[in-house]
Amino acid sequence: MDKQLQVFTLTLQENGYRLTRARQAVVTALLSSGGHVSADALAEVVRESAPQVGRMTVYRTLDLLSELGLVRPVYQGTGAAHYVLMDDGHHHHLVCSTCDTVIEFDDCVLEEIERVIGERFQFEVRGHLLEFYGRCHHCRESSSVLA
Ligand SMILES: [Zn+2]
Ligand SMILES: [Zn+2]
Ligand SMILES: [Zn+2]
Repeated sequence: MDKQLQVFTLTLQENGYRLTRARQAVVTALLSSGGHVSADALAEVVRESAPQVGRMTVYRTLDLLSELGLVRPVYQGTGAAHYVLMDDGHHHHLVCSTCDTVIEFDDCVLEEIERVIGERFQFEVRGHLLEFYGRCHHCRESSSVLA
């Protein structure tokens, strides 16, 4: 079993949920897509491998996975939420407001902040989704040509 699937399976079990066939179909499709999919797009993929799994099950499973901190919905623009995988509890983006490019980065700069905020609010931080907004280097270059 691959590592991500193992993490999903264990987390479900530890929280009292079984990895039913339907859930497994959803999780497998989600992991093979690498995340960044909308619920509807995921439902399409699931239908190819497991036609008996309905759209509502896909929605409910995504809700459950969100609750368990394994995925998070991300809202960009006006479209439907995309679900991203929360590897080790976190996920980081640089979002270009001009061309909508999303750059992924793995370096975590928030461990200290999590600790400080957690202490201040007596809050058990389990993860974070971090998005920086701005302009990517392509858009910066093209706007400096115009300027
Ligand atoms: Zn850009
Ligand atoms: Zn991402
Ligand atoms: Zn992080």
